[in-house]
Amino acid sequence: MKKSIIITIVTILIVLGFITGTYFYKIHSLDKAIASSLSNQSINNTANVAVSIAANTSEIKISPECKLDFKTLYTVCNHTIETSEQVSNDLVNLGEDECKAKYPDWQIQNFTSDKIDLYREVNDYCHQHYMLKDDNGYIGIYNLDQNNNVTGLNRMTDISTEYLTDTDVLGLQKGIRVYTDVNLNKMLEDFQ
Ligand SMILES: [Zn+2]
Repeated sequence: MKKSIIITIVTILIVLGFITGTYFYKIHSLDKAIASSLSNQSINNTANVAVSIAANTSEIKISPECKLDFKTLYTVCNHTIETSEQVSNDLVNLGEDECKAKYPDWQIQNFTSDKIDLYREVNDYCHQHYMLKDDNGYIGIYNLDQNNNVTGLNRMTDISTEYLTDTDVLGLQKGIRVYTDVNLNKMLEDFQ
């Protein structure tokens, strides 16, 4: 009697195990199928977008409202200087190839009718290396060369050191190095 109960329980367990196993295996392969069909879809979409972009590129003309962003990496100091300007009349209505011809030293990274991104690398330092120093109670801006040697006074500011914190005054007595015009202007604003 006991033996037959045990056999029944074991049989039920085996059957249950089998059913559960099959169930999870099916769910797993279903997931895989869905995932692979989804990724195929996105690949197809990407390909379509790429094709339509390629087809349009040759038709893009520079609009009179176009903005040009120039980015230069100076490889000696590793500083990037960015400038931007409004498009000049002689560029309006030109396509990408004609624009490239106008800027032979630049790489066009992005070309749309209202914004063009240009990039270049220059084997030099950026020539925007400065030292701020307390000069008779006012902040003076000195130029530095690529080795951080002071080469001369760039200009005096009308920022008085009188009301600055002790830390700032001490820093300005020793000289505070600052790189790029953007950072220089930020620092001067902080002192004002
Ligand atoms: Zn630099």
